[in-house]
Amino acid sequence: MKAAILHGAGDIRTENVSDPILEDHGIIIKVEACGICGTDLHVYKKEGKEGTIFGHEFSGVVTEVGGSVTGIQRGERITAVGFRPCEKCFWCKQGKPHRCSDMALLGYQFPGAMAEYVAIPFASPGRNVFKLPEELNFEDGASIEPLSISLFSVRRAQPGEKDMAAVLGVGVIGLNAIQVLKAMGVKKVLATGRRAARLSAARACGADVAVDAAKEDVLQTIMKATSEMGVDFVIECAGIQETFDQCVEITRGGGKIILVGVYEKPLSWDPMKAMSKNLSLICCLGENFPLSIELLRSGKVRTAPFITHRFPLDRAAEAFQVQLRSQDAIKVMIKP
Ligand SMILES: [Zn+2]
Ligand SMILES: [Zn+2]
Repeated sequence: MKAAILHGAGDIRTENVSDPILEDHGIIIKVEACGICGTDLHVYKKEGKEGTIFGHEFSGVVTEVGGSVTGIQRGERITAVGFRPCEKCFWCKQGKPHRCSDMALLGYQFPGAMAEYVAIPFASPGRNVFKLPEELNFEDGASIEPLSISLFSVRRAQPGEKDMAAVLGVGVIGLNAIQVLKAMGVKKVLATGRRAARLSAARACGADVAVDAAKEDVLQTIMKATSEMGVDFVIECAGIQETFDQCVEITRGGGKIILVGVYEKPLSWDPMKAMSKNLSLICCLGENFPLSIELLRSGKVRTAPFITHRFPLDRAAEAFQVQLRSQDAIKVMIKP
């Protein structure tokens, strides 16, 4: 089969590799759509492991089912959280490999879905493999993983309908967070970003105010939009010092800062201001596939505002360059 193979920093080539092998607890999927994730880009820019096949945001059709797997059939349209349990930790020994504390991850420690076929070594329907309802197309299916990360972090803020929220950074995680907040009925959502295409996507996703951080004074604009009170909570999706510092400034006394962006560098901060304002700092990494699927199925969250480019597998190298460099690119999909 064909797959997109990493050969060093910024060097991806579509080549022939051997087909994935079906394992007893696993399934094989014919990939129909696979998104390029920000985390993939971090590895791609530096020097990833030679031979890596990225791809953990994907969907496709089941082609083979291992002997120990029940509740899933060939021909079903699915998405999955791909991991390989370690078989050594406390949870694995308890017979609960879905809770494994040392799992290898699809697209990093073993081959991902930027290929014609992908093997999911451990498949447990309802736990890490999810059927796509009729209403969802394959691009929706490949968007469930990043949506579920946004949803998990928004839920940790415990938003109320009278709340005012800020979303800093309007990549896919931020854009999904805006849609989830509006679906939950949050009164006002203020978003900040630096690229015109993403700011207009933020408006399309329901942001009441979209602040261009490259041109406007973020602190002034947000304080003005909240009658100088600040927001009840911030979802920080940019992962840089500047936006973290903004969180402390724009969150009102007793409010919450939710960190979900990926930080490439450590933060430095003086906690005194956050302490004097009694702020809660909440750090998130989690997902919720069933609720995310329901949000897409009901149309409360849409993928149309942010899927900007589509490439066949043969042009994976170009797809990565566009995702990295294009001012217009938000989510680039590879469609084998
Ligand atoms: Zn991802
Ligand atoms: Zn384990």
